[in-house]
Amino acid sequence: MFILDCLGVNEKNILTIGGADVSELAKEYKTPLYIMDEDKIRENCRLYKKALDEHYNGNGLVLYASKAFCCLRICSIANEEGLGLDVVSGGELYTAIKANFPMEKIYFHGNNKTKDELLLAVTNNVGRIVVDNETELDMLGEIAKEKGKDISVSFRIKPGVDAHTHDFIRTGQIDSKFGVALETGEAENIIKKAYTLEGINVKGVHCHIGSQIFEIEPFLLAAQKMMHFIADIKEKTGNEITELNLGGGYGIKYTKTDNPVPYGDFIRHISQTVKQITKERNISLPKIIMEPGRSIVAPAGITVYTVGSVKEIPNIRTYISVDGGMSDNPRYILYRSKYHALKVENPTEKPKKIVTIAGKCCESGDLLIKNIKMPSLKPGDLIAVLATGGYNYSMASNYNRIPRPPVVMVSGGKPKLAIARESYQDIIKNDIM
Ligand SMILES: *Cc1c(COP(=O)(O)O)cnc(C)c1O
Repeated sequence: MFILDCLGVNEKNILTIGGADVSELAKEYKTPLYIMDEDKIRENCRLYKKALDEHYNGNGLVLYASKAFCCLRICSIANEEGLGLDVVSGGELYTAIKANFPMEKIYFHGNNKTKDELLLAVTNNVGRIVVDNETELDMLGEIAKEKGKDISVSFRIKPGVDAHTHDFIRTGQIDSKFGVALETGEAENIIKKAYTLEGINVKGVHCHIGSQIFEIEPFLLAAQKMMHFIADIKEKTGNEITELNLGGGYGIKYTKTDNPVPYGDFIRHISQTVKQITKERNISLPKIIMEPGRSIVAPAGITVYTVGSVKEIPNIRTYISVDGGMSDNPRYILYRSKYHALKVENPTEKPKKIVTIAGKCCESGDLLIKNIKMPSLKPGDLIAVLATGGYNYSMASNYNRIPRPPVVMVSGGKPKLAIARESYQDIIKNDIM
């Protein structure tokens, strides 16, 4: 009925998420409010696991890319569902440590990890450090020596496939701040160097070609290039790389016009390609790592706002201002991202009028949705912006000293707070007079 299948409508004609009445949650927790359907998040985790089991004998690992939404609860959920974790900073790693996440299933990414971050990772025995560049490799070599530890690494490779939303290009990918390039020999050189370093165990290669991708083809092209690279390395050094990490980026439905590929299809096609190349090039089947972030959490979440002022500028635009904005969802102002919204009361009411939903921050660009057809709205009405479970809370800020909203997770129809609302005291807690 709605673009997200975690949504419904109850007998009182109120929007529900995971079976819970959204207006009741708004009353209890106030707005703005992030609500996530925990059961849906778990279902999404299982979809990836199941696909890997079915199409690749389970010879791999699904990592939840925690930058999409990171907190203690989501780390526990990912762990309970048997997923590993992709972290990109000391802060995300610290969260995982505090959530008692199994360290061997953590992959540490990032194009500029600091020495302190690397030390935090190594002393906590993080499973893989995904090395981005030679400076980092050198630092890791020193840390391995200092600490007398073996460090297992993977390498961030630019495969020469760059996928954007709705299209992709095959070259030009050298111009990226992430990783080492295949074409220039940079990737080969860094791996050859790694094999000479004591305490460094080369395990895998990694690529991540973009985000919100709706086609299978760029993933297949990337997988092909990476597999041939693994075979080339074997021919040239005699060493076989055993892990192929293809990153994340699987697209989701934000609006009616988005048509995501069923997640199982990605791995089905990828595994065929990988298997074929292992035969052609006489190498072993690598373990396949996938790193979905957005597709695990974004479609399982909504943000509920209360309408404040309704400003009708004749013949120009009607602004519906709400009690949040770029402070809780900066994706419109960052990328002009498109979202869909529903009225919480009577969500199936026929939309009548094109309006613009604006935030309350002091920026003209602080919009949530430009030009959306909505039913009539008045001050005090609740609206839900859909598919905000990823890259919303994790990108939220205190701009205008607005406290971050809480995150409530619904499971079995029951709400449970996962992150509390920030208070004004929280806002000034690091200030020094
Ligand atoms: C961002 C990112 C992901 C997750 O991407 P999604 O689009 O959220 O699936 C996975 N791996 C790496 C290395 C990333 O940078």
